[in-house]
Amino acid sequence: MLEKPLKCPNCDTHFYVEEILNVQEHPKEAMPVECPNCHHVYEKRITNGYFMTFEDREVGKYDKETGE
Ligand SMILES: [Zn+2]
Repeated sequence: MLEKPLKCPNCDTHFYVEEILNVQEHPKEAMPVECPNCHHVYEKRITNGYFMTFEDREVGKYDKETGE
């Protein structure tokens, strides 16, 4: 389930991380947890799947930038 939001050190976006476990044949390995806004790799975690990240809109910290 969703954890407490993290804060990207690069762009200050608050975001949630959700672990997606659906790859049984996939060996455990370190997968990146990326900021959903700037794709800065926040950290790497060991998982059987991968990580989805979502901006925390309640904090309202993110701003809509055009372009990337
Ligand atoms: Zn970021």
